[in-house]
Amino acid sequence: MKIICIGRNYSEHAKELNNEVPESPVWFMKPDSALLLKNRPLYYPEFTKDLHYETELVYRICKVGKHIDEKFAHDYYDAIAIGFDFTARDIQSEAKKKGLPWEPAKAFDNSAALSEFISKKYFDNLSSIHFKMLKDGNLAQQGNSEDMLFNIEKIIAYVSKFVTLKMGDLIYTGTPAGVGSVQIGSVLEAYIEDKLMLKTTIK
Ligand code: MG
Repeated sequence: MKIICIGRNYSEHAKELNNEVPESPVWFMKPDSALLLKNRPLYYPEFTKDLHYETELVYRICKVGKHIDEKFAHDYYDAIAIGFDFTARDIQSEAKKKGLPWEPAKAFDNSAALSEFISKKYFDNLSSIHFKMLKDGNLAQQGNSEDMLFNIEKIIAYVSKFVTLKMGDLIYTGTPAGVGSVQIGSVLEAYIEDKLMLKTTIK
């Protein structure tokens, strides 16, 4: 199982980090050891002084595919969850400056918090899914899948040119504006529509 993450997929977020809006999806991967399940806490890693949350819709791949045509891409995912793409922003900023890979900033253990999945058949409108995140009870981020620069079908089509997608693979689809740092004691609660799906406490 692999975790594919899309960067800079909401223009307001790209701007807040002074990144250009990309012409094709920016993607990277996390290993399966990054998964943080069942609302377990995240222990603040010792190697960073600027740990950030990024709240993202997560799509689950349900069949094998390579070079998937965009018009058939909807058949390749079956469920949606919400997750946090935890990021060591200080390490990522250094890596960007030096043109180095992002893995030390993005792929560390427990950096991919994940909720339970909701089958896609329960969504009224798959192209407009609202989500939000409260940090310590205050609204910190909100977004809607319709504001993605590259929707899930485009992402599946693009990424499957490079890597074979397999059943159980996950795609984190990028974060809207409002990313920020967490501290020990922070509580992050993520919602799809009005349903609380994921709670992560930083310890
Ligand atoms: Mg992200």
